[in-house]
Amino acid sequence: MKRFLFIIPLFLLSLLLYTIEPSRNSSQTIKNDFESQNSYVGNKNRNISTGYKIYVDFNPDKKLLTVEEKIIWKNLTEYSTDEIQFHLYANAFSNNETELGKKFGFDESERTKILIHSLAVNGIVSQFEYFQPEVYNPHDSTVARINLDKPVLPGDSVLIDIEYELIIPRGRLRFGYAAGREFYFIAQWFPKLGVFKDGHWICSQYHPYTEFYSDFANYDVIINLPTDYIVGSTGQLINVVISDSIKSWTYSAKNVIDFAWTASPEFYVQTKKYKSNFGKDIEVNFLIQPENKNLIDRKFKAAFNTVEYLEKYIGEFPYSQITLVDAPRTANIGGMEYPTIITYFTPLFSPIETQRPESTIIHEIVHQYFYAAVSSNEVYEAWLDEGLATYLEAKILSEYYGNPILYFRFIDYYPIYGISFLSFREIPLIYSLKAFEFEHSSYALSSYYLNNEIGSIRDTSYALPNRLSYLVNAYSKPYLIVQVLENYLGKDEILEIISEYYNKYKFSLVTADDFLNVLKNYENLDLEWFIANFINGSKKFDYKISSIAKEESTYKIFVERLEGGIAPTEIAVYSEVDTTYIEWDGTDRWKIFNIESEHKIIAAEVDPFRKNILDINYANNSYTVEPKYWASLSIAIRWFFWVQNSLLIFGSVG
Ligand SMILES: [Zn+2]
Repeated sequence: MKRFLFIIPLFLLSLLLYTIEPSRNSSQTIKNDFESQNSYVGNKNRNISTGYKIYVDFNPDKKLLTVEEKIIWKNLTEYSTDEIQFHLYANAFSNNETELGKKFGFDESERTKILIHSLAVNGIVSQFEYFQPEVYNPHDSTVARINLDKPVLPGDSVLIDIEYELIIPRGRLRFGYAAGREFYFIAQWFPKLGVFKDGHWICSQYHPYTEFYSDFANYDVIINLPTDYIVGSTGQLINVVISDSIKSWTYSAKNVIDFAWTASPEFYVQTKKYKSNFGKDIEVNFLIQPENKNLIDRKFKAAFNTVEYLEKYIGEFPYSQITLVDAPRTANIGGMEYPTIITYFTPLFSPIETQRPESTIIHEIVHQYFYAAVSSNEVYEAWLDEGLATYLEAKILSEYYGNPILYFRFIDYYPIYGISFLSFREIPLIYSLKAFEFEHSSYALSSYYLNNEIGSIRDTSYALPNRLSYLVNAYSKPYLIVQVLENYLGKDEILEIISEYYNKYKFSLVTADDFLNVLKNYENLDLEWFIANFINGSKKFDYKISSIAKEESTYKIFVERLEGGIAPTEIAVYSEVDTTYIEWDGTDRWKIFNIESEHKIIAAEVDPFRKNILDINYANNSYTVEPKYWASLSIAIRWFFWVQNSLLIFGSVG
């Protein structure tokens, strides 16, 4: 009986595949398409369970997408399921009561909704049942399921047909058009399968701050639009065919976790080949806004530098092409990553010392490794890819560009080197024009200081209580934590760990435990203290030298641990002629170190090489027998700079 159950759905499916009557192409074409798709979907070795075939007509006058989407999903797991779950991310913009809408508030031009015209599973008319897997909200229709009459058994396939329309909204968050420009960025635009894993669907709502999670799939997408439009997209351009006034762009993307594209008649296009260390040519395409042509060389350099660095230290670039899209300011897209296509924003006045747009280009290219190839759940564990992307961005910037110079923006526009202490309506009133160089970690440190109270980086990302806690726990803190590990182990070692993680998990779905296992197994080092205190823990760090007392020839150095976080450390004891270093495991709440010294001891410092940059108060780490006021004043001023120049960077980078 069991065998019959197994055979009948397969028979029906193959019958369906042969009898499907597409509205546009001949049934023979569709049949051939799906036959070729079947040859790679469900291939156990590549572990790809899903194929998408999408035809989209784009009408710029109406800002309308008319879409036919066919999904074939083969259940490659050992579990059966009686439902299929879908993301309908674009519905997040349908009203101001969705999880996204409540936080951001969309005006009329920023709203849209997926308008389903037909939906069928294996040829049988079906319905989406909207539900909210994480946060109950009947106004949120970003996730839906189809309840199946018969379960999809291991090895079975289903074919889903969806026809829908979607109006492109004015760009607000990652998706939309740029007001006043002919620029469209199309992301989170199609009904997309959740991830079926261990017998459960993982299919998150569109939450306000977090990004996405999906399985690897193959995409064949045909985009039809007016002939004057230029398209950039995930995947490889297969061909471009012109008929009448319509240009059809055919793309194929294998083994990717998402599909996004852009269109504009205004793009200035330049393509260069990068010779990969691994023997392939990587096609680097820049789609530039005409007013930003002058920065083209800097942009190519940033992209080439990034790929060079990543291939040298981490591993082979995962794709053979990448498209970098210069998003106009009014698109409100900022920096965002998709497989083989990324966006960034070009500030109009952008001297090289500001390292923009370089920093965004670098960050988003790093995401091709950590997000696109090694793919984690950004809704639950946002720190995993963002922490590594932010850390590697800083490494690449300092390797090729050195430290940035602190600047503020005059009328939100012109960068001026120095610090604005007080401003009114973006006009600085009290400022300094001194050119201060600062460390790449300063931005992250300043945002960490602003929010070192809330949670650990392992807290569920979408549930974090506000944007600041999300930015700190997803970007700043994990980056600083990797930097702490570098300070303890060395840069080559940390890059080796990241490289091992990448090469082990390239083109697979990962969790934080996969990363931690690589860490735990690295060179038999005992890193449990690090994982417990920095990654899993949420305690703060603050070590202090409280006093130095002299009793006869013995100096008593009194050291305290003021907060809960524990990190092994060193104490430097400075005499008039030399420096002595004492190792300390940092565990006790306080400890007195007795030092015999024939020379006069003038100062002591805990963590003198500043390995633990998460120490929340570095001013108390040193103690001078005869106080030097200037030193502490200089620390206080630096502190102020950091806090003033806080979240600028992370606010607009995905
Ligand atoms: Zn990012």
